[in-house]
Amino acid sequence: MKKPKTFPEQKQNLPGNEYQMNPEPEIIRENYAGSGKLLGKVAFITGGDSGIGRSVAVHFAREGADIAIVYLKEDKDALITQELIEKEGRQCLIISGDLKEEKFCKSAVKKCHTHFKKLNIVVNNAAVQFPQTDLEDITSAQLHKTFETNIYPYFYIAKAALPFLQEGDAIINTSSVTAYRGSEHLADYSSTKGAIVSFTRSLSTMLAKKKIRVNGVAPGPIWTPLIVASFDKVSDFGKDNPMKRAGQPSEVGPAYVFLACEDSSYMTGQFIHINGGELVGG
Ligand code: NAD
Ligand code: MG
Repeated sequence: MKKPKTFPEQKQNLPGNEYQMNPEPEIIRENYAGSGKLLGKVAFITGGDSGIGRSVAVHFAREGADIAIVYLKEDKDALITQELIEKEGRQCLIISGDLKEEKFCKSAVKKCHTHFKKLNIVVNNAAVQFPQTDLEDITSAQLHKTFETNIYPYFYIAKAALPFLQEGDAIINTSSVTAYRGSEHLADYSSTKGAIVSFTRSLSTMLAKKKIRVNGVAPGPIWTPLIVASFDKVSDFGKDNPMKRAGQPSEVGPAYVFLACEDSSYMTGQFIHINGGELVGG
C-alpha cells in the first residue's frame, strides 16, 4: 500500500524566498510610467514581501501611494520590497506576523492606520499551497492550515479595515484560475480560491451602499516564490496555457492599479483573469 506523505515533513512547508530565485522574477517593467493614479493614498497589502504582492506594492508606490506590507517571516524579502518602495519616493511600513491569528490581523491594520493616519486600499493576497495528487494525502492538518491561511484572514482584514475605509476606497482580493476550473493537485487550495470569489461578490454588494468597491484578480501561473516552494519540478510551469509560458509579476501588478484607482469606478464584485489566455467564466 502506498504510504501517505505526512504533511509536516513536506518540502512545501518551507516559505519561498524571492531573493534566492533563479531567474529573478520581473517586479515592474522598466518603462512603466506612473501618472499619480494613487497619489496620497495608503495601501495595505498582505503577502507584500514577494511575488505578486511585491509587484502590486511597487506599482502602487510608482502611482503615488504609501504602503504597508504584511508577511510571515521572510524579513530579507520584506526589506528589499521596502527599499524598492523608498526608491519610488514613498514610505513602506513592514509588518511581520501570522495572518491566521485574527488578533494579529486587527493589530496590523491598526498599526498601518496609526502610522499613516489613513487607509484607502486593502489587498488580500497572502496564501499557501501544498500540492497532493491523492485526496487521502490531504490531512486534516493541511486542510485546516490552507483554509485558515488563505480565506479566514480575508474576512479578518476586511473587518478590521472597514471602519477606516471611506467612499471611493477599494478592497482587492487575490483568487486564482484554479477557482474557476479546479486543480487535480490543489483540491484544498483551489477550494479556498473559490471561497475568495464568493466572498468578493458578497462583500461587494454589502459595501456598494458605502461606495467602497470590492474586486479581485485571478492569476494563472506566475513566476513567484510560492511556485518554487511548492513544486519539485518547475521547468514546465505555465507551459500548458495558450501562451505556453508562465507570467511575470510585472504582468499582474497593473491590474491591481486599475482596480484600486478611479479608472474602475463602475466595477465591483468582478475578477480580472491574468492567466496566459485560458478562457474561464465569471
Ligand atoms: P508569494 O510566496 O510571493 O506570496 C505569498 C505570501 O504570503 C508570502 O510571501 C508570505 O509572506 C505570505 N503568507 C503566507 N502565509 C502567511 C501567514 N500565515 N501570515 C502572513 N503572511 C503569510 O507567492 P505569490 O505567488 O505572489 O502569491 C500571492 C497570491 O497570488 C496568493 O494568493 C496566491 O494564491 C495567488 N496566486 C499565485 C499564482 C502563482 O502562480 N504564483 C497563481 C494564482 C494565484
Ligand atoms: Mg514571500
